[in-house]
Amino acid sequence: MSLVIVGSMAFDEIDSPFGNSGRVIGGSATYSSISASYFASDIKVVSVVGEDFPEDAMAMLREKNINLEGVDIKKGRKSFFWHGRYHNDLNSRDTLVTELNVLGDFNPVLPESFKNTDFLFLGNLSPDVQLSVIAQTTKRPKLVAMDTMNFWMDIALDALKNTLKEIDLLIINDEEARQLSGQYSLVKAARLIREMGPKFLIIKKGEHGALLFHKDEIFFAPALPLEEVFDPTGAGDTFAGGFMGYIAHTGDITFENMKRAVIYGSAAASFCVEKFGTKRLEELTGPEITERVQKFVKLVDFKV
Ligand code: AMP
Repeated sequence: MSLVIVGSMAFDEIDSPFGNSGRVIGGSATYSSISASYFASDIKVVSVVGEDFPEDAMAMLREKNINLEGVDIKKGRKSFFWHGRYHNDLNSRDTLVTELNVLGDFNPVLPESFKNTDFLFLGNLSPDVQLSVIAQTTKRPKLVAMDTMNFWMDIALDALKNTLKEIDLLIINDEEARQLSGQYSLVKAARLIREMGPKFLIIKKGEHGALLFHKDEIFFAPALPLEEVFDPTGAGDTFAGGFMGYIAHTGDITFENMKRAVIYGSAAASFCVEKFGTKRLEELTGPEITERVQKFVKLVDFKV
Protein backbone atom coordinates (compact mmCIF):
# COMPACT_ATOMS: atom_id res chain seq x y z
CA MET A 1 0.00 0.00 0.00
CA SER A 2 1.12 3.57 -0.61
CA LEU A 3 2.96 5.75 1.89
CA VAL A 4 3.45 9.50 1.51
CA ILE A 5 6.26 11.05 3.57
CA VAL A 6 6.44 14.83 4.02
CA GLY A 7 9.54 16.36 5.59
CA SER A 8 12.87 18.06 5.18
CA MET A 9 15.66 17.16 2.78
CA ALA A 10 18.85 18.77 3.89
CA PHE A 11 22.55 19.23 4.03
CA ASP A 12 23.83 18.32 7.47
CA GLU A 13 27.16 18.75 9.19
CA ILE A 14 27.74 16.69 12.31
CA ASP A 15 30.38 16.92 14.99
CA SER A 16 30.53 13.81 17.11
CA PRO A 17 33.26 12.62 19.49
CA PHE A 18 34.50 10.69 16.44
CA GLY A 19 35.13 13.73 14.27
CA ASN A 20 33.39 15.95 11.76
CA SER A 21 31.21 14.54 8.98
CA GLY A 22 31.73 17.35 6.50
CA ARG A 23 28.66 18.20 4.42
CA VAL A 24 26.44 15.14 4.10
CA ILE A 25 22.84 14.74 3.03
CA GLY A 26 20.18 14.48 5.71
CA GLY A 27 16.71 15.68 6.58
CA SER A 28 13.72 13.90 8.05
CA ALA A 29 12.20 12.88 4.69
CA THR A 30 15.56 11.56 3.47
CA TYR A 31 16.13 9.32 6.50
CA SER A 32 12.54 8.14 6.80
CA SER A 33 12.04 7.39 3.09
CA ILE A 34 15.27 5.37 2.79
CA SER A 35 14.29 3.42 5.89
CA ALA A 36 10.71 2.82 4.67
CA SER A 37 12.01 1.64 1.28
CA TYR A 38 13.35 -1.55 2.89
CA PHE A 39 9.80 -2.54 3.83
CA ALA A 40 7.32 -1.01 1.37
CA SER A 41 7.47 -0.51 -2.39
CA ASP A 42 5.17 2.48 -2.99
CA ILE A 43 6.81 5.41 -1.22
CA LYS A 44 6.28 9.01 -2.26
CA VAL A 45 8.15 12.00 -0.85
CA VAL A 46 7.00 15.60 -0.59
CA SER A 47 9.80 18.02 0.21
CA VAL A 48 11.75 21.03 -1.04
CA VAL A 49 15.42 21.43 -1.96
CA GLY A 50 17.57 24.10 -3.59
CA GLU A 51 19.46 23.83 -6.85
CA ASP A 52 22.51 22.74 -4.84
CA PHE A 53 21.01 19.41 -3.70
CA PRO A 54 23.17 16.70 -5.29
CA GLU A 55 21.72 14.80 -8.25
CA ASP A 56 23.49 11.63 -7.10
CA ALA A 57 21.52 11.79 -3.81
CA MET A 58 18.27 12.08 -5.79
CA ALA A 59 19.40 9.17 -7.98
CA MET A 60 20.16 7.07 -4.86
CA LEU A 61 16.59 7.68 -3.61
CA ARG A 62 15.07 6.89 -7.02
CA GLU A 63 17.08 3.66 -7.15
CA LYS A 64 15.33 2.68 -3.94
CA ASN A 65 12.04 3.09 -5.78
CA ILE A 66 11.18 6.31 -3.92
CA ASN A 67 8.89 8.56 -5.95
CA LEU A 68 10.29 12.12 -5.90
CA GLU A 69 7.56 13.79 -7.97
CA GLY A 70 6.60 15.79 -4.89
CA VAL A 71 10.11 17.19 -4.31
CA ASP A 72 10.17 20.83 -5.39
CA ILE A 73 13.61 21.90 -6.67
CA LYS A 74 13.84 25.67 -6.26
CA LYS A 75 16.01 27.25 -8.96
CA GLY A 76 18.73 29.63 -7.76
CA ARG A 77 18.11 28.83 -4.09
CA LYS A 78 19.91 26.87 -1.37
CA SER A 79 18.81 23.73 0.48
CA PHE A 80 18.09 23.64 4.21
CA PHE A 81 21.32 23.32 6.22
CA TRP A 82 21.68 22.00 9.77
CA HIS A 83 24.87 21.69 11.84
CA GLY A 84 24.79 19.82 15.15
CA ARG A 85 27.33 18.81 17.76
CA TYR A 86 26.92 15.76 19.98
CA HIS A 87 28.13 15.65 23.55
CA ASN A 88 30.34 12.79 24.69
CA ASP A 89 27.36 10.66 25.79
CA LEU A 90 25.97 10.87 22.21
CA ASN A 91 22.52 11.27 23.75
CA SER A 92 22.39 15.04 23.79
CA ARG A 93 23.37 17.55 21.14
CA ASP A 94 23.51 21.26 20.44
CA THR A 95 22.31 22.83 17.24
CA LEU A 96 25.12 25.08 16.03
CA VAL A 97 23.57 26.34 12.79
CA THR A 98 20.12 26.20 11.22
CA GLU A 99 19.84 27.83 7.80
CA LEU A 100 16.24 27.34 6.71
CA ASN A 101 16.78 28.56 3.13
CA VAL A 102 14.08 26.87 0.95
CA LEU A 103 12.48 25.27 4.03
CA GLY A 104 11.62 28.74 5.37
CA ASP A 105 8.71 29.14 2.94
CA PHE A 106 7.97 25.46 2.34
CA ASN A 107 4.35 25.07 1.39
CA PRO A 108 3.97 21.38 0.53
CA VAL A 109 1.71 20.57 -2.38
CA LEU A 110 0.61 16.96 -2.87
CA PRO A 111 0.75 15.93 -6.53
CA GLU A 112 -2.63 14.55 -7.75
CA SER A 113 -1.39 10.94 -7.57
CA PHE A 114 -0.35 11.39 -3.90
CA LYS A 115 -3.71 12.64 -2.63
CA ASN A 116 -5.37 9.27 -2.08
CA THR A 117 -2.44 7.74 -0.20
CA ASP A 118 -3.17 4.82 2.14
CA PHE A 119 -0.70 6.03 4.77
CA LEU A 120 0.76 9.43 5.60
CA PHE A 121 3.81 10.34 7.67
CA LEU A 122 4.35 13.99 8.53
CA GLY A 123 7.95 14.66 9.51
CA ASN A 124 8.86 17.42 11.93
CA LEU A 125 7.54 20.65 10.35
CA SER A 126 5.37 23.52 11.53
CA PRO A 127 2.01 22.14 12.78
CA ASP A 128 0.13 24.45 10.37
CA VAL A 129 2.06 23.02 7.46
CA GLN A 130 1.38 19.49 8.69
CA LEU A 131 -2.35 20.28 8.91
CA SER A 132 -2.36 21.74 5.39
CA VAL A 133 -1.03 18.42 4.07
CA ILE A 134 -3.79 16.42 5.76
CA ALA A 135 -6.34 18.83 4.25
CA GLN A 136 -5.06 18.03 0.74
CA THR A 137 -5.80 14.30 0.96
CA THR A 138 -8.92 13.27 -0.97
CA LYS A 139 -9.64 10.17 1.10
CA ARG A 140 -8.86 9.67 4.76
CA PRO A 141 -5.59 7.67 4.98
CA LYS A 142 -5.78 4.46 7.03
CA LEU A 143 -3.20 5.98 9.38
CA VAL A 144 -1.82 9.52 9.71
CA ALA A 145 1.35 9.68 11.82
CA MET A 146 3.46 12.67 12.73
CA ASP A 147 6.60 13.80 14.49
CA THR A 148 7.09 17.14 16.22
CA MET A 149 9.57 18.79 18.60
CA ASN A 150 9.88 21.10 21.64
CA PHE A 151 10.40 24.09 19.37
CA TRP A 152 6.75 23.92 18.13
CA MET A 153 5.49 23.41 21.69
CA ASP A 154 7.29 26.63 22.64
CA ILE A 155 6.12 28.82 19.79
CA ALA A 156 2.98 27.23 18.30
CA LEU A 157 1.27 25.16 21.00
CA ASP A 158 -2.29 26.03 19.92
CA ALA A 159 -1.57 25.16 16.29
CA LEU A 160 0.07 21.92 17.42
CA LYS A 161 -2.98 20.99 19.51
CA ASN A 162 -5.20 21.65 16.47
CA THR A 163 -3.12 19.35 14.30
CA LEU A 164 -3.03 16.63 16.97
CA LYS A 165 -6.84 16.42 16.73
CA GLU A 166 -6.50 15.28 13.11
CA ILE A 167 -3.91 12.52 13.42
CA ASP A 168 -3.88 8.88 14.55
CA LEU A 169 -0.32 8.39 15.79
CA LEU A 170 2.19 10.77 17.36
CA ILE A 171 5.86 9.75 17.49
CA ILE A 172 7.93 11.84 19.92
CA ASN A 173 10.71 11.41 22.48
CA ASP A 174 10.32 11.25 26.25
CA GLU A 175 11.41 14.84 26.87
CA GLU A 176 8.89 16.10 24.31
CA ALA A 177 6.12 13.94 25.81
CA ARG A 178 6.82 15.43 29.24
CA GLN A 179 6.79 18.99 27.89
CA LEU A 180 3.59 18.47 25.87
CA SER A 181 1.69 16.90 28.78
CA GLY A 182 3.29 18.68 31.74
CA GLN A 183 3.59 15.24 33.39
CA TYR A 184 6.76 13.48 34.48
CA SER A 185 5.22 9.99 34.46
CA LEU A 186 5.21 8.77 30.88
CA VAL A 187 2.09 6.69 31.54
CA LYS A 188 0.19 9.80 32.67
CA ALA A 189 1.76 11.80 29.84
CA ALA A 190 0.61 9.20 27.32
CA ARG A 191 -2.98 9.34 28.59
CA LEU A 192 -3.09 13.13 28.42
CA ILE A 193 -1.53 13.26 24.95
CA ARG A 194 -3.95 10.66 23.61
CA GLU A 195 -6.80 12.77 24.99
CA MET A 196 -5.51 15.55 22.69
CA GLY A 197 -6.32 13.43 19.62
CA PRO A 198 -3.98 10.63 18.55
CA LYS A 199 -5.31 7.15 19.41
CA PHE A 200 -1.78 5.77 19.27
CA LEU A 201 1.37 7.23 20.75
CA ILE A 202 5.01 6.18 20.48
CA ILE A 203 7.46 7.62 22.98
CA LYS A 204 11.10 7.12 21.94
CA LYS A 205 13.70 6.88 24.67
CA GLY A 206 16.88 6.91 22.56
CA GLU A 207 19.26 4.17 23.59
CA HIS A 208 16.60 2.95 26.06
CA GLY A 209 14.08 1.86 23.45
CA ALA A 210 10.52 2.92 22.70
CA LEU A 211 7.03 2.64 24.20
CA LEU A 212 3.84 2.16 22.20
CA PHE A 213 0.55 3.22 23.83
CA HIS A 214 -3.03 2.47 22.78
CA LYS A 215 -6.05 2.51 25.11
CA ASP A 216 -4.95 0.58 28.22
CA GLU A 217 -2.20 -1.31 26.43
CA ILE A 218 1.51 -0.58 26.52
CA PHE A 219 4.26 -2.29 24.53
CA PHE A 220 7.95 -1.75 25.21
CA ALA A 221 10.70 -2.39 22.68
CA PRO A 222 14.31 -2.11 23.79
CA ALA A 223 17.01 -0.54 21.67
CA LEU A 224 19.68 -3.02 20.73
CA PRO A 225 22.78 -2.55 22.89
CA LEU A 226 25.37 -1.63 20.25
CA GLU A 227 29.13 -1.75 20.48
CA GLU A 228 29.56 1.06 17.95
CA VAL A 229 27.43 4.19 18.07
CA PHE A 230 28.92 6.71 15.72
CA ASP A 231 26.27 9.29 14.82
CA PRO A 232 22.69 9.27 16.20
CA THR A 233 21.46 11.88 13.68
CA GLY A 234 18.31 10.73 11.93
CA ALA A 235 17.75 7.72 14.17
CA GLY A 236 14.28 9.00 15.10
CA ASP A 237 13.32 9.57 11.47
CA THR A 238 14.73 6.19 10.53
CA PHE A 239 12.66 4.58 13.28
CA ALA A 240 9.50 6.33 12.03
CA GLY A 241 10.25 5.42 8.40
CA GLY A 242 10.81 1.76 9.24
CA PHE A 243 7.65 1.71 11.38
CA MET A 244 5.49 3.31 8.69
CA GLY A 245 7.11 1.24 5.92
CA TYR A 246 6.24 -1.96 7.75
CA ILE A 247 2.67 -0.75 8.40
CA ALA A 248 2.27 0.23 4.72
CA HIS A 249 3.64 -3.15 3.62
CA THR A 250 1.21 -5.09 5.82
CA GLY A 251 -1.74 -2.66 5.64
CA ASP A 252 -2.56 -3.75 9.20
CA ILE A 253 -3.07 -1.08 11.89
CA THR A 254 -3.89 -3.34 14.82
CA PHE A 255 -1.94 -2.92 18.05
CA GLU A 256 -0.44 -6.41 17.56
CA ASN A 257 0.98 -5.44 14.17
CA MET A 258 2.20 -2.08 15.46
CA LYS A 259 4.30 -3.99 18.01
CA ARG A 260 6.10 -5.69 15.11
CA ALA A 261 6.42 -2.35 13.32
CA VAL A 262 8.10 -0.85 16.41
CA ILE A 263 10.67 -3.66 16.32
CA TYR A 264 11.33 -3.21 12.57
CA GLY A 265 11.68 0.55 13.07
CA SER A 266 14.07 -0.01 15.98
CA ALA A 267 16.12 -2.45 13.89
CA ALA A 268 16.45 0.09 11.07
CA ALA A 269 17.43 2.84 13.55
CA SER A 270 20.12 0.59 15.04
CA PHE A 271 21.89 0.59 11.65
CA CYS A 272 21.48 4.32 11.10
CA VAL A 273 23.74 5.22 14.04
CA GLU A 274 26.67 3.09 12.85
CA LYS A 275 28.06 5.62 10.33
CA PHE A 276 27.83 9.35 9.65
CA GLY A 277 24.66 10.57 7.95
CA THR A 278 22.67 8.20 5.73
CA LYS A 279 25.72 6.11 4.69
CA ARG A 280 24.91 2.95 6.62
CA LEU A 281 21.20 3.09 5.76
CA GLU A 282 21.91 3.46 2.06
CA GLU A 283 23.88 0.23 1.87
CA LEU A 284 21.54 -1.86 4.04
CA THR A 285 20.18 -5.20 2.81
CA GLY A 286 16.98 -7.10 3.62
CA PRO A 287 18.85 -10.08 5.17
CA GLU A 288 20.77 -7.73 7.48
CA ILE A 289 17.46 -6.33 8.78
CA THR A 290 16.03 -9.83 9.28
CA GLU A 291 19.13 -10.88 11.18
CA ARG A 292 18.94 -7.84 13.44
CA VAL A 293 15.25 -8.35 14.15
CA GLN A 294 16.17 -11.84 15.37
CA LYS A 295 18.63 -10.21 17.79
CA PHE A 296 15.75 -8.16 19.21
CA VAL A 297 13.67 -11.30 19.63
CA LYS A 298 16.55 -12.99 21.44
CA LEU A 299 17.26 -9.95 23.60
CA VAL A 300 13.83 -10.01 25.24
CA ASP A 301 13.12 -13.75 25.13
CA PHE A 302 12.63 -15.29 28.57
CA LYS A 303 10.46 -17.91 30.18
CA VAL A 304 8.54 -17.75 33.49
P1 AMP B 1 16.76 13.54 14.27
O1 AMP B 1 18.19 13.16 14.61
O2 AMP B 1 15.88 12.32 14.11
O3 AMP B 1 16.21 14.56 15.19
O4 AMP B 1 16.77 14.19 12.82
C1 AMP B 1 17.86 14.90 12.33
C2 AMP B 1 17.50 15.50 10.99
O5 AMP B 1 16.55 16.54 11.18
C3 AMP B 1 18.71 16.13 10.33
O6 AMP B 1 19.03 15.40 9.16
C4 AMP B 1 18.30 17.57 10.01
O7 AMP B 1 18.55 17.92 8.68
C5 AMP B 1 16.82 17.60 10.28
N1 AMP B 1 16.41 18.84 10.95
C6 AMP B 1 17.06 19.52 11.94
N2 AMP B 1 16.37 20.64 12.30
C7 AMP B 1 15.26 20.68 11.51
C8 AMP B 1 14.16 21.60 11.37
N3 AMP B 1 14.07 22.71 12.12
N4 AMP B 1 13.20 21.30 10.46
C9 AMP B 1 13.29 20.19 9.71
N5 AMP B 1 14.30 19.30 9.76
C10 AMP B 1 15.28 19.54 10.65
